[in-house]
Amino acid sequence: MNQREGFGNAAALARATGQGFDYLIVGAGFAGSVLAERLARGMGRKVLLVEKRSHIGGNAHDRHDDAGVLIHPYGPHIFHTNSADIFEYLSRFTQWRPYQHRVLAQVDGQAVPLPINLDTVNRLYGMNLTSFEMEKFLESVAEKKDRVLTSEDAVVSKVGRDLYNKFFRGYTRKHWGLDPSELDASVTSRIPTRTNRDDRYFADTYQAMPVHGYTRMFEAMLAHPNIKVMLNTDYQEVVELLPWKHMIYTGPVDAFFNYKYGKLPYRSVRFEHKTLGQQQFQPVGTVNFPNDYAYTRVTEFKHLTGQSHAATSVVYEYPCAEGDPYYPVPRPENAALYKRYEAEAEQLDNVTFVGRLATYKYYNMDQVVGQALTAFKALSEHEVSSPAPLSEHIPVRSRSEVAGAA
Ligand SMILES: Cc1cc2nc3c(=O)[nH]c(=O)nc-3n(C[C@H](O)[C@H](O)[C@H](O)COP(=O)(O)OP(=O)(O)OC[C@H]3O[C@@H](n4cnc5c(N)ncnc54)[C@H](O)[C@@H]3O)c2cc1C
Repeated sequence: MNQREGFGNAAALARATGQGFDYLIVGAGFAGSVLAERLARGMGRKVLLVEKRSHIGGNAHDRHDDAGVLIHPYGPHIFHTNSADIFEYLSRFTQWRPYQHRVLAQVDGQAVPLPINLDTVNRLYGMNLTSFEMEKFLESVAEKKDRVLTSEDAVVSKVGRDLYNKFFRGYTRKHWGLDPSELDASVTSRIPTRTNRDDRYFADTYQAMPVHGYTRMFEAMLAHPNIKVMLNTDYQEVVELLPWKHMIYTGPVDAFFNYKYGKLPYRSVRFEHKTLGQQQFQPVGTVNFPNDYAYTRVTEFKHLTGQSHAATSVVYEYPCAEGDPYYPVPRPENAALYKRYEAEAEQLDNVTFVGRLATYKYYNMDQVVGQALTAFKALSEHEVSSPAPLSEHIPVRSRSEVAGAA
């Protein structure tokens, strides 16, 4: 892998020999790495992958902490998908360890299953309902809504006010810094309620963790002679140094356009990692705290990774306004602001925007892989129909410029 050192020589050499890269890819997370892999291995293209952090993998990066426990520095990442294609694609770079995530929520002095299921309701209310009776119970407590607009509407119309207050209101206020009544219905509507005893957090067909971790998977993905990886480098430092034909940008879309319409709001998280001198800290991977403490949840990594170790490491998540951009804030005015950036992005002929930050949408890992594979297909078709020239000092070209030049 190329580190930043020595790049000056590479740049001079590339210019002197008239060589360059077919693709400049910004960001070595799932979006950038999948595209680098596909373009290099699938099409024989030369790719420069530039990452401003000191490692590959984006937010899915994992590493061993000082005690030797495998942790996720940017919060717990659990892989799950319903797509056989996406699972098979990633299986080229890793073996898997079957893992079904389980979450307990600490509510009214008890740790109960989340998503809400039959056991959750029976234990909280001291009842002994059957699945059929739970359906009737939920119908009796649900608040009828003509229109479900907000997250509050989405929850109270399904499970009623009391369960909403116990599980959703406090958690959402901590997580987003906003009341559920101020957030789009989409935020909470994807959280299911089950009338059976299924206590898995996800119901997807494929639920597994890379057997040696995400970083090893990314290393296998990027191990190709046509891929050069440059860490610790903002793409702006190199974008005009080396010739390239097409840019794939997976960073924040507002930053790309120098925040010309204003900053897109994100919610961030401060991760507090701890290593404890005990085998196990909690009974399941994650415990949520909807109503108590400033943190939202605690995750113990060994449940996720299956690692055997005398010690254990946990992470506490403290949501906050400032910090790395993690969660796009789903409010109509933010969607409208993003649309303005999206319209600008669509004008650019030789830049493709892919991934969570570049499209200002919260995506799970599998969705980003899917988005990147779709982008690859479009790029390969586009290349065949209109081969791109090598650009030297015009890093970004608008569609109108291209049309004018034609
Ligand atoms: C706390 C948390 C928990 C999550 N848990 C899960 C989970 O359990 N399961 C799941 O499926 N998904 C989970 N996700 C979502 C998952 O992290 C994303 O789907 C995935 O990381 C998105 O990949 P990406 O490549 O789009 O973005 P990223 O992983 O953010 O990668 C973008 C990369 O671009 C780099 N970059 C940005 N600007 C520049 C620049 N100017 N120059 C160079 N490099 C730049 C960044 O440093 C970053 O490494 C979670 C997300 C968060 C925040």
